[in-house]
Amino acid sequence: MELAEKLINALKSRISRKNWEMWFGTFNVESVTDTLITFSVGNLFIKDWIDQKYAKHFKEAIRELTGKDVPYTIKDEMVEEVSRERDVKKERLIRKRPVVLSRFNKEYTFESFVVGLFNEEAYEGALEIAKTPGKMNPFFLYGGVGLGKTHLLNSIGNYILENSPDTHVMYVTAEKFMNDLVMAIKSGTTGEFRKNFRDKIDVLMIDDVQFLIGKNGIQSELFHTLNHFIDSCKQIILCSDRTPAQLTEFQPRLVSRFQMGLMVKVNDPDTETEKRIVKAFARKSGIELTDEMIRQIVEYADNIRTIKGIMTKISFKNSKNGVDDSTITKTISEVVGTSISPLMVKDKNVEKELLFQALSTVFDVKPAELDARLRTARLSSARQVGMFFARKYMGKTFAEIGEWFGRDHSSVVYACKKVNDSMKKGNTIIKRQITHLQELLHLQSGASVS
Ligand code: ADP
Ligand code: MG
Repeated sequence: MELAEKLINALKSRISRKNWEMWFGTFNVESVTDTLITFSVGNLFIKDWIDQKYAKHFKEAIRELTGKDVPYTIKDEMVEEVSRERDVKKERLIRKRPVVLSRFNKEYTFESFVVGLFNEEAYEGALEIAKTPGKMNPFFLYGGVGLGKTHLLNSIGNYILENSPDTHVMYVTAEKFMNDLVMAIKSGTTGEFRKNFRDKIDVLMIDDVQFLIGKNGIQSELFHTLNHFIDSCKQIILCSDRTPAQLTEFQPRLVSRFQMGLMVKVNDPDTETEKRIVKAFARKSGIELTDEMIRQIVEYADNIRTIKGIMTKISFKNSKNGVDDSTITKTISEVVGTSISPLMVKDKNVEKELLFQALSTVFDVKPAELDARLRTARLSSARQVGMFFARKYMGKTFAEIGEWFGRDHSSVVYACKKVNDSMKKGNTIIKRQITHLQELLHLQSGASVS
């Protein structure tokens, strides 16, 4: 990892996520030398704020990483441009909260996006939008976590910046959209907020709109913003982890607007494409991996983000001392958060039996009932948790799990997703069941369920 990236991480770890999203959206490290570190942010307003509030954090982070008190400076980018036009504007900018056009992740481009059957439609839709913004409105992209939605949004942004730099593109998370609106309301500048969002932007992307579930006031603002974009044939792009119809507690008028344009789903990737993604990353970072290593990485990562996480860590280790089998196994364990040498038995039937035994203890059911047709609430939970466990902690494929439990592929996928979602929502009962299973199967080795 470069020092710049480490610096960003060190700062990020000192600042709350909310504040980070609110203030550091345009933040970047411009240059690092022994005598001066230069950062940049979108405008003077943000620069002043960051200067005031976070000086201590900057100093600490710099000292932590360089071992010295290297001086730093923060540049604001937009004001330079504006002040060239008219000096008076500068003052206005300081007082009002001006629009911040986005800085896109340079790594997230159409070129670096690996296309397979599962995401082809999303890729093509996004590319089409990037080429002719305003054509299909709104563009609604949805699909599970870590499957490349944000990557595609950034690709659109990068593409437009490169090919039609006069087009103003803006990326915000729904959370930031909300925070900005709340700030505007507090400071009595909603008129300005609307102007910024509606008049100054040609392509607006709002990521993770599911964040606005139940937030009625903000939804109204979004509704009007959406209408404005559609009416003036400017592009609006929305991302969500679920379909519009599944956005419960969303205003129906908003949901129907979402459904009016182009809706595209990013599906779960197939193993072959996952392998291609691993290979692409390895090539880029100059890491050599055997087929077996690739297979293992793909098996344990449950989405592309996890694959990237594993690969980033491996490439970091690679630059230090090369990779071997144990580096891979260790890294996977670190990233996935569990011990990955589950059950040192290769005989699949024994693995199945051990799992079923453990499930029968935890859920108080008979092992033989688990792969039978009988359906009771307790059996269903045992099966679902068992399937998830087999996938996540025993590295089984959906097909293998289907065979074990006598269920078809889609039921297994559904079960795994359902349990995964509950875990994410912090369901403590399921967490306890899983920890219990880990103990019974001796998978503990210090890693607990996160
Ligand atoms: P989402 O927004 O859907 O949760 P992201 O766009 O943040 O997911 O993707 C997670 C990580 O996986 C990112 O690092 C992204 O670059 C990478 N990624 C996702 N899909 C692909 C793909 N098809 N090709 C290459 N990298 C991908
Ligand atoms: Mg995302």
